This record gives sequence, C-alpha cells and structure tokens, in this order.
Amino acid sequence: MQNLLQLAQAQTAAALANGALQPIATESCWLEDREQRFLVRMLSGWTRKHPQGKPHGPKPNPFQPYDPRLFVADAGDRHLWLLNKFPVIDQHLLLITRTYEPQTQWLTLADFEAIAVGLQAIDGFAFFNGGPLAGASQPHKHLQLVPLPLDRDCCQPLPLSDRWQASLAGNPSALPFQHAIAALPNLLEPSPQQAGVLLFEVYRQLWQQLQIDMNGDRPPAYNLLLTRQWLLIVPRSRESHLQINVNALGFAGALLVRDQLQLQQLQDLGPLQLLQSVGC
Ligand code: AMP
Repeated sequence: MQNLLQLAQAQTAAALANGALQPIATESCWLEDREQRFLVRMLSGWTRKHPQGKPHGPKPNPFQPYDPRLFVADAGDRHLWLLNKFPVIDQHLLLITRTYEPQTQWLTLADFEAIAVGLQAIDGFAFFNGGPLAGASQPHKHLQLVPLPLDRDCCQPLPLSDRWQASLAGNPSALPFQHAIAALPNLLEPSPQQAGVLLFEVYRQLWQQLQIDMNGDRPPAYNLLLTRQWLLIVPRSRESHLQINVNALGFAGALLVRDQLQLQQLQDLGPLQLLQSVGC
C-alpha cells in the first residue's frame, strides 16, 4: 500500500473541512538535559475546567463504531487505518483492530503484519502504549504511526534517536531506565507477511531479554517503539510523574505539558529524570 501517506493527507483535508478532525493546538520548545534535547509541546490556552461530574454508564468505544469520516484505508482482514481525531502531530494514524481486542494483551503476529505494511509505505515511527499505565487512553487495541522526522527543526528523526543508537551499540546506560532494543534487518525487501513474522520474532526475543514470559496471560505495562531501523520495549512503573503524563512519544524525546507551570516543573526536574521516574 504505497499510497498510505497520500490517502491520509487527502482524508485529513476532508476531515478538517467537515469538522471530524479536531487538531490540538500546541506551542513547542526545546529543553536540554545532560546534552540531550527534548521536544516539549505545551497545550495552547489550556484552562482547568470546573469539575462537572462524570457521565454515568460505560465509556463509549470511539473505535467501534469508528467515525467513517476518519477512515483512511483497510489493513487486511483484522485491522484498519484511521486518523487520530485529536492529533498534535500531522498525519497521525491509528491502526485499530476491526473488532474489539484489549490494549493490554500481547501484540500478535497479525498486528505486526499490519504495522509492517504501514512502515513499508511510510518512513515513520510506530508506537504502542501497552495499557493505561503506559499512556493508553483507549482500551480497544490500537497501534500508532506518524511520519518522520517528528519535528522539522530536529536534525534527527526522533529527538532521542542518537541515545537509542548508543544503546544499540552496547551502551545501555545512555538511557537510565530498563529497556530492551534490537536492530532490524531491511524491512522493505520482504513481503509484509515476512516482515511481520520478523518483527514478531524480535518482539518475542525482547521480552525474553527482559525475562518476561510471553506465555503469561498479559504483559506488564510497557511502551513499544518501532522504526524501520529498530524495535524496542520500555517497561513502565507509572503513568505520570508530577502529573506529567508520558507515553511512547516521551521515550522518543517528545513530551507534552499542559501549561507553563508544568513546563517549569519539567525543566526543574529534567526530562531524563521524568523518563526514569515513569520507567522501571
Ligand atoms: P492513546 O491515548 O495513546 O491510547 O491513543 C488513542 C488516541 O485515540 C488518542 O490520541 C486520541 O486522540 C484518539 N481518539 C480519541 N477518540 C477518537 C475517535 N473518536 N476517533 C479517532 N481517534 C480518537
């Protein structure tokens, strides 16, 4: 599916026009911590709303049914591509399962085959927030894909690319929290099915490295980060620190704060310390 990005762009234009897409306005800046730059986005005009009481009853599932105005493309029998309704990043795609599967389950071979198609089409950053503790806001299984580079003002694909490369090169202390990373062979040559098998096998090996048995009924909370070059897993201990939520994007070097106060707190703490606090 070579035209996934073009389909996403066309659907973005249409969904902006019809109001289905509601981008979140942010201002961005860079914070430096121990010679590492982090991209920090701050919500524009965030104000604390008065508590209004939660609506009663179960939370509706936004992916079943999904809004057809956000549909981008089919992704085989089990998945489809959808625009993220509230994007901070342009062309932010969600890869959702057609029928409900829990976000807290192990990823499957079918998930990796579907995401492999996306990565073959788009030189992007795929990620997965494994459970609420890892930053997932929706319980229906969804992987995510954004084009690279994450920010035009950054000379690397991801702000933390060099650190992850250093870890790959045998210096795990470049990132001061538990993680397992593996380099990938060329993902563009094999068929999507073969690429999926390869990714699934690496996923298994990374869990083995972390000494976690995939025969257990569900994984611990974790973030998965995936590019055409590497796949990595970061186990999580907490969803947030100082009320700053962290998801997989945080481990790529992109953080989101809601206001100036949080930005100051993040600066005082240091982004690497934040990652350490929410990692293991
Ligand atoms: P996460 O918060 O990482 O679990 O990712 C779920 C994403 O789904 C969030 O980034 C939301 O912006 C997005 N989202 C929420 N509601 C909808 C919806 N109705 N359609 C499409 N995307 C949605």
